[in-house]
Amino acid sequence: MEIEKYKNELDRTVLILDKLVSFPILGGESNLPISRYIEDIFQHHNIDYHHVYNEERDKVSLHCRIGPPVDDGIILSGHMDVVPVEGQPWTRSAFSLSKEKNRLYGRGAADMKGFIACCLAMLPHLLQSSLQRPIYFAFSYDEEVGCLAGPALVQNIKETYSEKPAYAIIGEPTSMKTNASGKGIAVFTTHVRSSAAHSSEIRKSVSAINEAMILIKWLNDKMEELADEEKSDQRFAPPHTTIHVGTIQGGTAVNIVADSCKFEWDVRNIPADNVSDIFEDFNTFCGQRESFNRSINAEFQIITTPKFPIVPSLDTPENVAIVNLVNQWTNTDKTESVSFGSEAGQFAEGGYQAVLCGPGNMEQGHRADEFVEIDQLEKCIAMLHYLITSQCKS
Ligand SMILES: [Zn+2]
Repeated sequence: MEIEKYKNELDRTVLILDKLVSFPILGGESNLPISRYIEDIFQHHNIDYHHVYNEERDKVSLHCRIGPPVDDGIILSGHMDVVPVEGQPWTRSAFSLSKEKNRLYGRGAADMKGFIACCLAMLPHLLQSSLQRPIYFAFSYDEEVGCLAGPALVQNIKETYSEKPAYAIIGEPTSMKTNASGKGIAVFTTHVRSSAAHSSEIRKSVSAINEAMILIKWLNDKMEELADEEKSDQRFAPPHTTIHVGTIQGGTAVNIVADSCKFEWDVRNIPADNVSDIFEDFNTFCGQRESFNRSINAEFQIITTPKFPIVPSLDTPENVAIVNLVNQWTNTDKTESVSFGSEAGQFAEGGYQAVLCGPGNMEQGHRADEFVEIDQLEKCIAMLHYLITSQCKS
């Protein structure tokens, strides 16, 4: 195998990253080709690994254990998919890795193929170490379109191994700082359905657009209520749950009462707020609007559906073992918070102490000319060395 050429872990990381970046697989697309490349590496090292397919079997998460089947293992997790480059002013090829000074450019270099490359490059060292407790790799798909694969991956890890891993490190780009908290995210589509009439008949009919306006006002008021200072969580900016309507479509002509209006909204919640509660309050209000409007139009209906499963917030206490360990391994003493939703919340919900820590910065992720600094990959490799050493101690 080509990676055998390199004894040096950084060289091996760069080579693997080069390969990973060459797969232009976006969230939502089949990830089998990139998965096959990673599987080849596992097979080359004689590692037993497991597939977690989607229903159509055109997407797959992978996980494996290295080390003995005992409790207190550490899961290292990353996603294989990336975000689109279309419409972005890239000045270089997005899907072939290019090097300039201390930077490696390419889509996914930071978010988050750099971390996966570091993990895979450590395999020779990892396999030679006398681990007392195991290390797991868990690589997912479709993270960028709503962390879709996370729940099944976490569940499958639980079912596959009889022992219980204690920790999960999700290598999202955090500049190798420990991030122990993050907002959750949920996205909903609300569809208001009425029936068309001449616009002069507005008193005898219900406009779906007007009703959508009332619902959107409710959502906005709800955010103001949640922004109440007493509840604010200063780890985040802004320090409260946000509710935002991002798209809206409705109506057919200016002289026709709108029979349909659809809007999409998201909730990014601080750990103290529960998305299901917000959703239920909203649905209760929608129910009231339905009863009120059905006296005018019997067909009137409001339907709200989640666009993907709710991604829970992350709220790992700062005094737990994994935070101290990752701080030690990365030589920092301060934990930070991220404002984006991630699979870390899903691992935490699965019962693992979870943090985010990975090479690169989200300021470069999702942008044109995404890059990761080579220093960052070196820091990640150093962290993994400490991590492996700590799993070797009895
Ligand atoms: Zn990511």
